[in-house]
Amino acid sequence: MEKKQIRICVPVCAGTIADLRRESLRAAQMGDIVELRIDCLVEGVTVKDLEELAAELNRPVIMTFRSKEQGGFGATNFSSFMNLLFERQQKIDIELEAVEHLYYRSTAPPTRAEWERIICSHHDFTGVPEDLDQIYERMVVTPSGILKIAVMANDIVDCVPMFQLLKRARDSGREIIAIAMGPAGVATRILGPAYGSYLSYGALDTEAATAPGQVTAQELRELYRIDLINPQTQVMGIVGLPVSHSISPQIHNAAFAGADIDAVYLPLEVRDVTSFMKRMVHPRSREIDWNLRGLSITAPHKTAVLDCLDWIDHSAKEIGAVNTIVIDEDLLRGYNTDALSVLKPIKERVGALRGARCAVIGAGGAASALLWSLRNEGALSTVFARDEEKGRALAAKFGSQWERLEDASFKEFDLVVNATPLGTRGAFEDETAATAVQLRGARLAYDLVYNPSETLFLQQARAADCDTIGGLEMLVLQAAEQFTLWTGLEAPVQAMREASQFQI
Ligand code: NAP
Repeated sequence: MEKKQIRICVPVCAGTIADLRRESLRAAQMGDIVELRIDCLVEGVTVKDLEELAAELNRPVIMTFRSKEQGGFGATNFSSFMNLLFERQQKIDIELEAVEHLYYRSTAPPTRAEWERIICSHHDFTGVPEDLDQIYERMVVTPSGILKIAVMANDIVDCVPMFQLLKRARDSGREIIAIAMGPAGVATRILGPAYGSYLSYGALDTEAATAPGQVTAQELRELYRIDLINPQTQVMGIVGLPVSHSISPQIHNAAFAGADIDAVYLPLEVRDVTSFMKRMVHPRSREIDWNLRGLSITAPHKTAVLDCLDWIDHSAKEIGAVNTIVIDEDLLRGYNTDALSVLKPIKERVGALRGARCAVIGAGGAASALLWSLRNEGALSTVFARDEEKGRALAAKFGSQWERLEDASFKEFDLVVNATPLGTRGAFEDETAATAVQLRGARLAYDLVYNPSETLFLQQARAADCDTIGGLEMLVLQAAEQFTLWTGLEAPVQAMREASQFQI
């Protein structure tokens, strides 16, 4: 596959010509192409206004009229207006039905040069249409210069037909834009141009996104380094639901940039992990040809993914959770880098943990990795969980004690770890796994929650005169282990640490 020109198109949707001008001048600073959404305009605007604006932008411009049925604002009926524009020099984006009208029924059909400027588009905001192939066939028949298909991804596997369309169009020499919208489709936006898409749309800023899942133009350029992505670029990513809050893309992309590695790390929102692993990941069954080399796995898939692997590291097997996958030729290998990293920040502070009395609050995946590591260090651990059955089972598995979380006192403990989501930004932000009264007397409090970096648990611990450690360092260190597993190189930990600090 030859290297494609990478183009970012920044769409602008504004109600007045003054707003349109202001926003599109900003868009021209970030994008290679500016898309003017004519259907957003409500004020009387002339063709001359738009032509003057296009000239001022000094960038290729796409004039788009999107009907309400196709997700547009349909503020004014500009379709006749589009015909006027079309006679000038702009690219115009119109829907398949309008294109077919021009092709089959117009008494004055476009000239060859004019067809070259037409983007023939189809949008489906509900999912992948069953008649996708027929829609594509209808488009291909027309002499439109560029074809565009945008569908809603209800799960990540809805990206598969979009990558396949890119290949099909590329093989037959047609220009195409194929996008899976929504958070599950982000891979098509970041990888699309390198895999043959004429352009990728990048929002002016998060609030200005004109379609679901649109990444900002600045993120495409600076975080994902889209201009450097090519078919040989190694692809890694974080698999979870949701993943849009994750800062792993910041950490790993900074690492690849810092180590000068041709790789990109994507957020991969996955609902059905088994189907994803089969159709997009496993080299022996995947339906798309992408240079996927490794994955981070986060909630809720760390356990379910075990069944999809060919080989599992002994620690991940004992813990019962995988957070890292390495694609090694045609094998999938699973590891748990949480277990390798969770105690490092503590040992740097207090040294060896042999004989230390440790309280672990929570009985989920992180608690499991922590208990595995504490057992290996020779520490004496106690599980505090709200669910007695789960807590007892986990404690038994790792030779620990179990105690009720309600009214617990941690005064006898050297280390108290929060391994629950309490304190995490959002719904749990104002909650803590333990109060200052409960923590008084404990030596060190460690919160695995890293977002925000300052949690209520850490505040309570400080109020109880405990030393404290937040979860960000563990996040960076487990990411560094992943980097080494994927690349065989030592990780640029400082660059990763700085990227994590910057984002919180
Ligand atoms: P998980 O598997 O979902 O387990 C969460 C545990 O917290 C469960 O035992 C759950 O109890 C318990 N819990 C939830 N709400 C609770 C509440 N209101 N009161 C008491 N217990 C409660 O999640 P995980 O993967 O272990 O992750 C736990 C936390 O660690 C998350 O915030 C995650 O972000 C963080 N983490 C951080 C890192 C890092 O690198 N810093 C790495 C991994 C995880 P039930 O079983 O009864 O629901």
